[in-house]
Amino acid sequence: MPASILIVEDEPAIAELVSLHCTHAGLAPQVVHAVLDARDIVDEKLPDLIVLDWMLPDKPGIDFARELRRDERTRDVPILMLTARAEEDDKVRGFETGVDDYLTKPFSTRELVARIKALLRRAAPETSDQVLSVGPLSLDPIAHRVTGHGKELKVGPTEFRLLRFLLARPDRVLTRQALLDGVWGDHVFIEERTVDVHVRRLRVALEPAGLDTMIETVRGGGYRLRKY
Ligand code: CA
Repeated sequence: MPASILIVEDEPAIAELVSLHCTHAGLAPQVVHAVLDARDIVDEKLPDLIVLDWMLPDKPGIDFARELRRDERTRDVPILMLTARAEEDDKVRGFETGVDDYLTKPFSTRELVARIKALLRRAAPETSDQVLSVGPLSLDPIAHRVTGHGKELKVGPTEFRLLRFLLARPDRVLTRQALLDGVWGDHVFIEERTVDVHVRRLRVALEPAGLDTMIETVRGGGYRLRKY
């Protein structure tokens, strides 16, 4: 699934250009021209990253960034801020707010896409195309292949996404809710025990390589992919 990029930019030419380059880079961009519209989209479904212009018609982008950082649900969404040269002095304030990166206009779109990809890799390794490995367990998102000790394993589509999410966060306890949000998407109303069903299926899929025990149940916590 391509990473979703919300572009909040009121200058149509820039918005169009950024959107086009995101599409070419295999990302899924969506353009809005004001904070109010961005808010609607974020409330509906969290994007993987937000490209946020500083000067917007309804309110400053930096205020929106601040709001997002205050809310637990939206706190971790990477934000790349676009600023005009005149706003340069305000950058420090931007970083204090928790903006992850910024670019000054005019910028090279190649540079912008590189920055977006770097932020995505940092925030959500499972949305990048890199092969994820923990010990003898490996997942290739492009070839859509899972191997254990070099042996190819048959993994269903949901279990594939689940494993990709886990491999990107080895040794971390992930609650059922965190797994639901990360694998199924937030605002999707699925019962938490659905996670258990798919974890069980994933273990069965890993069994032929003897790696089913890598997925641990953490009592009262959730699940953890242990380091091998
Ligand atoms: Ca603007």
